[in-house]
Amino acid sequence: MKQYSIAVLEGDGIGPEITAEALRVLEVIGKQAGVAFELRRAPFGAAAWFETGSAFPEETKAICDASDAILKGPIGLGTEASKKIPPEEQPERGGLLPMRKRYNTYANFRPVYLPPELAHFSPLKPERVAGGVDIIIIRELVGGLYFGAKEQGVTDQGLRYVNETLSYNEDEIRSILVVAFEEAVKRKKVLHSIHKSNVLMSSVLWNEVVDEVAADYPGVEVKHVIVDAAATAMILDPRQFDVMVMENMFGDILSDLAGGILGSLGLMPSACMGTKKSYYEPSHGSAPDIAGKGIANPYSMIGSVALMLEKSFDMADEARRVWDAMRSVFGAGVTTADLRDPEGKCTVLTTREFGDRVVEALCR
Ligand code: NAD
Repeated sequence: MKQYSIAVLEGDGIGPEITAEALRVLEVIGKQAGVAFELRRAPFGAAAWFETGSAFPEETKAICDASDAILKGPIGLGTEASKKIPPEEQPERGGLLPMRKRYNTYANFRPVYLPPELAHFSPLKPERVAGGVDIIIIRELVGGLYFGAKEQGVTDQGLRYVNETLSYNEDEIRSILVVAFEEAVKRKKVLHSIHKSNVLMSSVLWNEVVDEVAADYPGVEVKHVIVDAAATAMILDPRQFDVMVMENMFGDILSDLAGGILGSLGLMPSACMGTKKSYYEPSHGSAPDIAGKGIANPYSMIGSVALMLEKSFDMADEARRVWDAMRSVFGAGVTTADLRDPEGKCTVLTTREFGDRVVEALCR
C-alpha cells in the first residue's frame, strides 16, 4: 500500500472548520484508492504563537521537514486582535513568509474556476461570465517586496520612516516564468504577463526575461498587460484570460480580485510549489468575521487537497473526482452562505453539510 505523510496545520479562525471537511474528503479518497495518508498535526499561526511564543514553532518545522507535503489552513487574526502580537512575530511575518522561504515555494498556482452552470455565483453581469471562468494565476511567492530588505527608524527631522525593498534577480524571474510557460503549453498556449514596466525597473527586467524565455516557447503567444489595466480587464472580460503570471504582490492582490469575480474567496484554493517541498492552502485568510459559526465555505480547502493529490502524489484521477464531486454538490441546487443565490431557490449548507455532500458524492 502506498503511504504519504502530510503535515496538517489547521491555522486560525475558520482554519480548523474547513480543514476538518478537507480531511474527511482525503480519508475517503485514501480508502478508495488504497493509499494511506498519515496525518501529522502541528500548531501554526496565531494559535501557535499564543501556545508557544512562535507562529512557526520548532516542533512544527520538524514535522513539516519530515512530511511529504503540507496542508495548511488560513492563519491570522483580525486587525485589532493582531495587536496582541508584536508586529514582527505576527502570523504572516513570523510564520507564513518563513515557511515559504524554508521550502522555497516559489510557484503559487491559484485556479480561478467557475463552471458554466455555476456562473450565477459571480456578481458580474451574466453576459460577462457566460460559459464560466477558467483562469490559472501563477504568482511568484518567495521574492519581491514581501521578502526584500526592510528598515525603519526616525529621520533627522524626527519623522518615523520605513524602507521596504522590491528586489528580484533574473534567475528568480526566469524560474516562475518557466512554470507559467509550461502551464500555458498544457492549456490554450496564451500567456498574459502582468507587469508595471512604465514605473518599476523590476518590471523592465521582468519583461526582458519574458522575451528570453519566450524564445524557448515559440508556440505560446505572450500578451503583456500593465497591472492596473489588468485589474480592470479582469472585471470587464475575465474570459479573455487563461494563464496569467506575475510577481508576488501583484499576484496577492489580483488573485483576491479574481475571488471577487467568482463570488467568494471561499472558491479559491491554491498550491505553493517548492523546490524542497510543496504546501497547499486556500488563497484567503482566516475570515475572523465568520469564524466559529460553521458557515465558512470549505471548497477552498477541499480544492487545496485536490491540488495536493494531483501535484504531490501523482493522483490526478482522484483529484478530478474531488473537483467533480464539489461541482455536482453545487449543481444540485445548493449553495454556501458566502455565495450569491440570485433567485433565492438554493438550499444554504453549513460547512459540515457541504463536507457531507461531497463525501456522499464521492461514495456514490
Ligand atoms: P479573509 O480572506 O480572511 O476574508 C475576506 C472576506 O472573505 C471575509 O468577509 C471572509 O468572511 C470571506 N471569506 C474568506 N474565506 C472564506 C470562506 N472559506 N468561506 C466564506 N467566506 C470566506 O481576509 P481578511 O479578513 O483581510 O484577513 C483575515 C486574516 O487572515 C488576517 O489576519 C490576514 O492577515 C490573514 N490572511 C492569511 C492568509 C494566509 O493564511 N495565507 C491569507 C490572507 C490573509
